[in-house]
Amino acid sequence: MEILHVSAECYPVAKAGGLGDVVGALPKYQNKLGHIAKVVMPMYRTKFLYEHEFEVVHKGAFGMANYWLDYTIIKQVNNSLGFDLYLVDIFGLLDREKIYGYGDDTERFTAFQIAVVDWVSKWKHHPDVINVHDHHTALIPFIMKHCFIYRNLSSVKTILTIHNAQYQGWMDWNKSNYLPEWDKWKWGMLDWEKNINPLASGIKCAEKVNTVSPGYLGELMHEANGLEKLFEYERGKCFGILNGIDNEVWNPKTDAFLEYVYDIDDYKEKKAANKKILCDQFNLDESKPLIVFIGRLVGEKAADLLPAVIGDSIYYMEGKMNFLILGSGDKAVEFQLENLQNQFFGYYNSMIGYNEKLSHQMYAGADFLLMPSRVEPCGLNQIYALRYGTIPIVRRTGGLKDTVKDFGEPGGFGICFDIASVGDICNAIHRAIELYQQKDKVNKIRKHIMKIDHSWEKSAQIYINLYNS
Ligand code: ADP
Repeated sequence: MEILHVSAECYPVAKAGGLGDVVGALPKYQNKLGHIAKVVMPMYRTKFLYEHEFEVVHKGAFGMANYWLDYTIIKQVNNSLGFDLYLVDIFGLLDREKIYGYGDDTERFTAFQIAVVDWVSKWKHHPDVINVHDHHTALIPFIMKHCFIYRNLSSVKTILTIHNAQYQGWMDWNKSNYLPEWDKWKWGMLDWEKNINPLASGIKCAEKVNTVSPGYLGELMHEANGLEKLFEYERGKCFGILNGIDNEVWNPKTDAFLEYVYDIDDYKEKKAANKKILCDQFNLDESKPLIVFIGRLVGEKAADLLPAVIGDSIYYMEGKMNFLILGSGDKAVEFQLENLQNQFFGYYNSMIGYNEKLSHQMYAGADFLLMPSRVEPCGLNQIYALRYGTIPIVRRTGGLKDTVKDFGEPGGFGICFDIASVGDICNAIHRAIELYQQKDKVNKIRKHIMKIDHSWEKSAQIYINLYNS
């Protein structure tokens, strides 16, 4: 089967979060299963672009509103990622350093989607499935089915994978002329509450829809940032498939970012050695449990609660723990987290920004990983933590509920709580500190979690089954 993944992110080419990890791994594992999976994404000005060789495979042009845009498709020459990687270059629009966050993101990603469809319409054959990911690519099923010039693609099957339904790509109706001439009787396939809503359009037009965990799909029927009724209505074509992790990238035994690689047999000393390096670097005390947070500093991740949680925990639990935070996002939260460094010097530290290497070192060196998320479609951090023998402290929501079981339950291994409030999070941290004192129990848990299999092999096959259906 030939599958084309269309995405705004793909690790290690360009990544902002879990979407990048998934699109960087799933196609590789689909290829290992004997299929042909390819990825096409925008050509940003990233390190990867300059460090690898590419060849031009196609040049084309299309109209968008009053503009005529030329595009070029380039392909990575040596296929180092385990799949064919294609980048779409649109001069001035896509070739920028950041993935998102520009005032013209709507124009950028609409142009990207039209370019991809235009390119595929010129192929001599059709792929069996086009798997689009999140709202940045969710107009593609509509464009293929209802834009007159691409009608030759209308029978190609499309799947929309939803990594995060909070962001939907809303566009004002006055931008409807961005799309190539389309069948106006089909306006309802673009509309949601008087806006063009790309995510809603993808849900309506794709043959199948999947979320990145079964738990998240259930929650979307009740809370989907305005799309609850749509998920309810389309539930027959929606499925939840739990993300896997790329065991080749996330492996404490071979991780090139770590000073001390380790395995189930020698994790005790090596994990402690990695912790010492982190603690020395960030002025923390290695004899205390180290609790880390890695992620986007946004409301979904309950990052706004972190300053109060850190302050209250250190104050009321008499500094029996250390905190280290890595992330970026809301400026107000970033500011508060940086300010806390002076107040709790020696107990707390943070690194504001994105740092892939440090994130690996933190998964390896930490004792606990905190994820108090309000919304978590799957969450990969907790799965990486498990693989690195770091105990997750999570709120029971979405994919966190599907992957972490409280150590108080039979077969449990994590720390779970229900409400994203300062009190409940502090209570969970208190339980973590008490658990930390019971060395034998902690070691038993670490050994158990490092063995849990969350590799992509299983989930990659479930995607294939979904395509086949
Ligand atoms: P989301 O996609 O909602 O941000 P996920 O848990 O699915 O959350 O995936 C987050 C991914 O992004 C993980 O690989 C995590 O390690 C990484 N990540 C998030 N923030 C940072 C950061 N500031 N520095 C390095 N890696 C980060």
